[in-house]
Amino acid sequence: MPVYHAPLKEMQFVLHQTLNIGQHYAELGYQDATPDLVDAVLEEAGKFTESVIAPLNRVGDEQGCRFDNGEVTTPEGFKAAYQQYIDAGWPTLAQPTQFGGQGLPYSLNLVCAEMQSAANHAFAMYPGLSHGAQATLMAHGDEALQARFMPKLVSGEWTGTMCLTEAHCGSDLGLLRTKATPQEDGSYRLDGSKIFISSGDHDLAENIVHIVIARIEGAPAGTKGISLFLVPKMAVADDGSITGRNGVSCGSIEHKMGIHGNATCVINFDGATGYLLGEPNRGLNAMFTFMNAARVGVAAEGVAAAEASFQGALAYARERLQMRSLSGVKAPDKPADPIIVHPDVRRMLLTQKAIAEGGRALVYEMASWVDISKNRTVSSEARQRAEARLSLLTPIAKAFLTEMGFEATSLGVQVFGGHGYVAEWGMEQLMRDTKISCLYEGTTGIQALDLLARKVLGSRGALLEGYCTELAHWWQAQTLPESLQPLRQQLLAHLQQWGELTQGIAVRAQQNPDEIGAASVDYLMFAGYVVLAHQWLKMALAADALKERDPDLCQAKQETAYFVFARLLPKAASHATLAAQSSDSLMRLPESAFGR
Ligand SMILES: Cc1cc2nc3c(=O)[nH]c(=O)nc-3n(C[C@H](O)[C@H](O)[C@H](O)COP(=O)(O)OP(=O)(O)OC[C@H]3O[C@@H](n4cnc5c(N)ncnc54)[C@H](O)[C@@H]3O)c2cc1C
Repeated sequence: MPVYHAPLKEMQFVLHQTLNIGQHYAELGYQDATPDLVDAVLEEAGKFTESVIAPLNRVGDEQGCRFDNGEVTTPEGFKAAYQQYIDAGWPTLAQPTQFGGQGLPYSLNLVCAEMQSAANHAFAMYPGLSHGAQATLMAHGDEALQARFMPKLVSGEWTGTMCLTEAHCGSDLGLLRTKATPQEDGSYRLDGSKIFISSGDHDLAENIVHIVIARIEGAPAGTKGISLFLVPKMAVADDGSITGRNGVSCGSIEHKMGIHGNATCVINFDGATGYLLGEPNRGLNAMFTFMNAARVGVAAEGVAAAEASFQGALAYARERLQMRSLSGVKAPDKPADPIIVHPDVRRMLLTQKAIAEGGRALVYEMASWVDISKNRTVSSEARQRAEARLSLLTPIAKAFLTEMGFEATSLGVQVFGGHGYVAEWGMEQLMRDTKISCLYEGTTGIQALDLLARKVLGSRGALLEGYCTELAHWWQAQTLPESLQPLRQQLLAHLQQWGELTQGIAVRAQQNPDEIGAASVDYLMFAGYVVLAHQWLKMALAADALKERDPDLCQAKQETAYFVFARLLPKAASHATLAAQSSDSLMRLPESAFGR
């Protein structure tokens, strides 16, 4: 089993050196969130994650959740660990103070969430989903509803879910059938069935608050008739006390590829009482208000998986002895050299390192924009700027980092050779667990359409142009050491190519809309490599300032940046070539001629 160690030094490097997080928090009015406090939180979160959450990763995978007589039981140790999690106050970290939260920034919580996800993806999803439910309630619930449900959600005594998917509708939520009927007291009666609901039922908390999308009787078909509801598993009185069962039950749980410790449930609503959140028929718009934050969270899962797998692979590659180095014996006292001397093993390790650390820099920066977008004390101009950047980069980070996180875990298996394929080492579990991040919260294909069709072409290129121009100006204004200047040139050339690639697709799409779908995933992957390279150059520059104080760190960042520009960024070129192809090669074959 890889033993997870929270990479505090790496996290602190991004927070303090590249993001200047102390100043960021001070500007947003988080007076308590000083650099010292940030470090103290990280240290405690690291200890808790390593000692309480990580040891349950294997047992969670092996035992999985159980479903008996309508009740879901989590794997051995989960309940006790969750209680410790509550007792230590972790659920409250970034939650609103008026409901018992500590009111610290979203971005600080994201760092802790990354640790939890790396240590135990399945466990981390229980509080993760709960935070999504709370964000929705805070954004769209009225004061009475918030007062009734928030305190126990914030403390972690109750958890939350997001109930969107139905058997016949996943990506296309407009097809949903769950029905909401208005009742005399202003509440709604919910009838329908949701599938694949993460943390949908379990034994960790006495109540589960479901955020459910449904169609009010008589509402328009499609996405324009979707409304959002809060539906608790246990009915709750105005004073927040539990009064008995609501019409909500778990029909079954899924047996699945990974995240066995997280219950993925069929949740049935049979005359359940629910409460409208936001306006009728505006449910999808309401969901969008926290979608960016939720998807940045999923992007962080890709980073977490890459980090966990890299830690395991690196330790193994330093120990495992096989064959001699091509350039001469490196460990003469041993029967063979450690495999880390072999160039191909280094290719795999450096790719994992580049994804974990570059991905981390990207998601932390995006989380800092989420801080701004949620903050009412900053100017509306600053908020709009943060929202525009989030809007463009969220689908890129979500899809690219989860796909790359999966690739990193596959490389982790490969570094272990045959031993990676067997369960004992835990490397194959990381791969199985992280695949889901490419699927939920919008598949890679759906993120790619969101990026190209909605964000880029939908804004007539304005969002993209704004971002690329800002980045190009910023890089041109930086004073770089000579060694990094060629990397800047390479990055600037890619920013220009991004615009040209977009132009070409836009022109083709005027003739044939399928061109968008045909180009979209390669377009997104191109963008992902460019954004990753930008983060690596930023880190290399920030590390340069540490060359006297911490020469090892400086060397590690700068050498990895050269690796990224030499061996990962060139992959953008092949994605650009593919995105520039006409859709013909995909669409000409008639469906009936696919064969079989
Ligand atoms: C373990 C697990 C946990 C989950 N947790 C939750 C949860 O907590 N809450 C919740 O509501 N849901 C949850 N889901 C559901 C998840 O969000 C959906 O599975 C996902 O959105 C995809 O929907 P689908 O499975 O219906 O696939 P489909 O929508 O049927 O898609 C199938 C394939 O077609 C592609 N596709 C579909 N439409 C298009 C298009 N227009 N263009 C290009 N490609 C397209 C997709 O990219 C995909 O590759 C979970 C799923 C799993 C497996």
